[in-house]
Amino acid sequence: MTIDPSSAEAGWRLEKTYARLPRALFVPMAPEPVSRPRVVVLNRPLAESLGLKAEALAGDGAAAVLAGNVLPSGAEPIAQAYAGHQYGHFTPLGDGRAILLGEQVTPSGARLDIQLKGSGRTPFSRGGDGRAALGPMLREFLISEAMNALGIPTTRSLAVVATGDDVRRQETLPGAVLVRVAASHIRVGTMEWAAAQNDRPVLEALVRYTLRRHFPGLAESDNPALALLEAVIERQAALVAAWQAVGFVHGVMNTDNMALSGETIDYGPCAFMDTYDPATVFSSIDRFGRYAYGQQPPIAQWNLARLAEALLPMVDADPRKALDRAAAAVHAFPALYERHWLERFGKKLGLEAVEAADRPLIDDLLDWMHRGGQDFTNTFAGLTTGAWRTGQGDAAFDAWQARWVARRDRPDRPSADPATVMRAANPAVIPRNHRVEEALAAAATDGDLGPMHRLLEVLADPFDHRREAPEYQEPAGAGTGPYRTFCGT
Ligand code: AMP
Ligand code: MG
Repeated sequence: MTIDPSSAEAGWRLEKTYARLPRALFVPMAPEPVSRPRVVVLNRPLAESLGLKAEALAGDGAAAVLAGNVLPSGAEPIAQAYAGHQYGHFTPLGDGRAILLGEQVTPSGARLDIQLKGSGRTPFSRGGDGRAALGPMLREFLISEAMNALGIPTTRSLAVVATGDDVRRQETLPGAVLVRVAASHIRVGTMEWAAAQNDRPVLEALVRYTLRRHFPGLAESDNPALALLEAVIERQAALVAAWQAVGFVHGVMNTDNMALSGETIDYGPCAFMDTYDPATVFSSIDRFGRYAYGQQPPIAQWNLARLAEALLPMVDADPRKALDRAAAAVHAFPALYERHWLERFGKKLGLEAVEAADRPLIDDLLDWMHRGGQDFTNTFAGLTTGAWRTGQGDAAFDAWQARWVARRDRPDRPSADPATVMRAANPAVIPRNHRVEEALAAAATDGDLGPMHRLLEVLADPFDHRREAPEYQEPAGAGTGPYRTFCGT
């Protein structure tokens, strides 16, 4: 007997706690049906961890559920309202092409948003068509799953469903819906929206909800807004340090693309850096490098200052005291970030117990990479496997390596084997831009999913340094020009 993929028997356990919040925060709204839904990729391990039955999602009718034509049992679809500072400017936004179906309660007790992205127009669509193209949705699937395998907090991708409808961008493209799974979709911009309502109970309800959902240990705090601010700052410091450690450039760190849960969210013009250069930018519209690799920590802090502003009325009744306390929390960011950064980069050099005094050792390697145009991932991978040794004819590198080895093997080092520490911290493979493009082109243009599946398989195990996969490890050859990614996805 086949299982109805929209039924409770298929494993749906949807709750709707967000839809119980004040109506200023969302609009009840069903996804717009698509013409001929067809599952392009399905994430079976994720489906299983959500408690969804693989056979139900593999069978007939599953595409209609994953595309939003048929609602799963218990769904109560809404478009979430939010605002955002985009490239520094405040704008009211909201889900212009996404619908939240509800929160799946998993067999292990987690509560995860199930959101359809590309699901049609909503009251927040402004001039947009509410739709998404297949290539960018496959891109989000690929990169988000790669980030997860790298151990970096991120939203996940359950499926991409082709819609059978065209979307018109600069050219006509096949449409798709991405089924996104997230700890929540509460953004810095959601709090900005709540604050902009000038309706204190709305802001309070959202603050208390966010604390209960993501920081339950802080739910009873005397000062919930300040507790939330400090907790989010800590998670963002950890997240951005994790991005830096793998060379991930988000590309559009607007406040609407920063999740309070601490997950990486909204994969648009993101990409991984090849050659180490803090000025690395991929997004074609980021002309001033606001969101360059080296700008990510200060921009995260800037975004957190916008969060602090939104929370001010709840931090203290006295506006001066509120400002002092919120500012102190935001000013703690650089030191928190530095601690996470040192830990991450220390491990990349095999230092389980890194010290502040190790900073020059790390900086000098990065400077050397920058001067010589070295590949970020492969330099650390080479140090990990021992493929990079003295005698490469580079005196500066040899001198650095002698210092590193002396520090790494210092007699008082902890018992953890430096090689093991390095293998767990330095990926052998990342989603190389030319490999990503190749896989997307084959899938979206020729309907050939082979390259995408092979890439997904390699990226699912990024710390396997024994695998022979040079074609996934090498950066694009010379003469390919700078890599550019595009918004309007
Ligand atoms: P993003 O650049 O994806 O972070 O989106 C920024 C804002 O634009 C959000 O409010 C989106 O919902 C909205 N948006 C992006 N693309 C579309 C589209 N094709 N139709 C309607 N709204 C969109
Ligand atoms: Mg966004």
